[in-house]
Amino acid sequence: MPKLRFGPAGIPLDYKGPIEGVPLFLKSIGLNAFEYEAVRGVRISEDKARRLGSEASIYDIAMSLHAPYFVNLASPDPNIFEKSIDRIVESMKAAEWMGALVVVIHSGYYKGYRSRGEAIRRVIDGYRLVLERLPGWVKKPMISPETMGKSSQVGSIEDTIEICRSIERCKPCIDWAHLYARSEGKHVLTVEDVVKTLELIERELGRKALDPVHTHFSKIKYGRGGEREHVVLSDKSHGPDWRIVCKAYIDHGYNAVVISESPILEKDAILMKKICEEEMKIKGLI
Ligand SMILES: [Zn+2]
Repeated sequence: MPKLRFGPAGIPLDYKGPIEGVPLFLKSIGLNAFEYEAVRGVRISEDKARRLGSEASIYDIAMSLHAPYFVNLASPDPNIFEKSIDRIVESMKAAEWMGALVVVIHSGYYKGYRSRGEAIRRVIDGYRLVLERLPGWVKKPMISPETMGKSSQVGSIEDTIEICRSIERCKPCIDWAHLYARSEGKHVLTVEDVVKTLELIERELGRKALDPVHTHFSKIKYGRGGEREHVVLSDKSHGPDWRIVCKAYIDHGYNAVVISESPILEKDAILMKKICEEEMKIKGLI
């Protein structure tokens, strides 16, 4: 039976208190993953990050960290490129302190290049520099380029595979909502869509890149060019459907850490867990 973990992207909406209290809170509502959002900068002190990490380990909460949004490793501007590397290195350090195994990163934009290939090469150079500049004590966290929701962003499945094939310590963060929005609603419609994508990653990067599948999920609005905004799971007028992703994971035995990026964070994480439990019951797994 696959091991599926669920948790919110950021501090739960119903939680008030210091950050290191989040793991106990999550455990109390039946969740077991937490993505720390350093999206506006890595500001947490070493002391606090270590306390958060030790609480997460006591309550068996899988930690990940989302790097700052202000990263563009594809930027032709050397200043932005260097600052992006610094921010990712800072994120990797904080991740090590809090015991996070994955650092999720928005790689950047194609803008300024004649071809997609040129932009990807620049991004790969950036990630190689990150790894070169990491202090030796940062051992555990992996670089996790996220699949992105806009066609202007580096982050198709193919981009993400190419990046991870070229650097060590890399596994994709699969944001199914983004893939759905990027395709303007043409992908992530069936269990087969999801399985095909996972099998492609497995063929190119090996099963270890998917064990567990680091997953982002919500429903999403899209327009021309892709992503507009993330919406709640109960919104019937938008996709994608969580149940098909869950079925694909269960049918093919993929372990996953599922992070809810819905506007109602932990509440939709609980709903996603419930839907997967229903599917497991149907299959006679629980
Ligand atoms: Zn993200």
